[in-house]
Amino acid sequence: MTVNENELSPRPPEYAPRRKSAAANVGGVIVGGGAPVVVQAMTDTDTADDLATAIQCADLFRAGAEIVRVTVNTPRAAAAVSKVRARLDDMGIGAPLVGDFHYNGHKLLAQYPECARALAKYRINPGNIGKGEKRDPQFRAIVGAALENEKPVRIGVNWGSADRDLLSQMMDANARKKNPEDSQTVLRAALVQSALLSARAAEEWGLAPERIIVSCKTSRVPDLLAVYRKLARECSYPLHLGLTEAGMGLGGAASSSAAMAILLAEGIGDTVRASLTPAPGASRADEVRLCCSLLQSLGLRAFSPQVTACPGCGRTSGDFFRRLAEKIESHIARRLPEWKSEHPGVENLNIAVMGCVVNGPGESRRADIGISLPGGGENPSAPVYVDGKKTAALKGENIPEEFIAILEKYIRNRYPSAGEKQNAKAEKRN
Ligand code: SF4
Repeated sequence: MTVNENELSPRPPEYAPRRKSAAANVGGVIVGGGAPVVVQAMTDTDTADDLATAIQCADLFRAGAEIVRVTVNTPRAAAAVSKVRARLDDMGIGAPLVGDFHYNGHKLLAQYPECARALAKYRINPGNIGKGEKRDPQFRAIVGAALENEKPVRIGVNWGSADRDLLSQMMDANARKKNPEDSQTVLRAALVQSALLSARAAEEWGLAPERIIVSCKTSRVPDLLAVYRKLARECSYPLHLGLTEAGMGLGGAASSSAAMAILLAEGIGDTVRASLTPAPGASRADEVRLCCSLLQSLGLRAFSPQVTACPGCGRTSGDFFRRLAEKIESHIARRLPEWKSEHPGVENLNIAVMGCVVNGPGESRRADIGISLPGGGENPSAPVYVDGKKTAALKGENIPEEFIAILEKYIRNRYPSAGEKQNAKAEKRN
């Protein structure tokens, strides 16, 4: 399992217990079975361009994704998958790649065995796996490839490509009822039914339940809640959670977070992905950062030190406060990879950056380390609190640099590297 044990935090008692599920091993990352909720992402490069795809995968992994999915839609894309894998291995990134298959997955997995081997999981969509009589043999061929290569499969139903045959049957059956349900209810039930019928077929063909992960994504929050609650009641497969086609910017982030937070607090969801549309030129990795922030805000995972910063208001002096908060955030982002390898546990650190005397000292005392800037009209000094005690009062233009130096020292002392621990022991002995 690649999840760092230091990132684990106890599940807050305010939430429902985690739903019990099987544990699927996706290339060494455990999904379900009570393992920490895993962050996933998906590339938007043409997979046939193995260099561009490997670079984007690396960006997503470095941002915090633990599993990355790539489209495998053409023979050229399938042929490129093992090259993407090799490029990532050369970069020292061994994290798992997942292939996203629609329509022709049965053919591509058979014709490109290196692709089938290089992928850690196959994602299929029951709505796009074949129609009528072709459906079962094509699905069975994918299950066969998974069995041969010992891979798990995600059965990923999507609102936009629901199994039309099943939906028509269920709509017709509903219409014949004395008191028919509304069509939305039938559609939600059809999504769940589609996923579970496919999962059970895969089991009949030999795929172990712990090799099956299920998702049923919708693009609206209330639908997603209803569908996942039903799924959670009706099966014990690990669940991949996400609002599909969530949209752009703050709206997409808000919708994704709202949907996933409610379900995660109910104990539902073993792996998450935020399907955000990046603005032109914006980083694809924002979807990863959103998932990490969401899990960290909920207290389910810790990826990076948490910065508590007030929003600022009419008491804040100029934009100095905003610049300090921004400097600290960017310092953390830049130093985090080194901190994490040198100072294990640093991701649990709490830092407060506050704008005035109203809430500044209180929040700073509660954090591991905090600074409270002087608001307008206050004594122009910024008290620094370490483990609840005031240890310094900074003044002048160099407050950010001085505070960062205090922060670095605190991290070295509180989360010493293996070498620093040995030195401390040796000093004690002497
Ligand atoms: S801590 Fe002070 S500056 Fe920050 S929002 Fe509150 S009152 Fe405004």
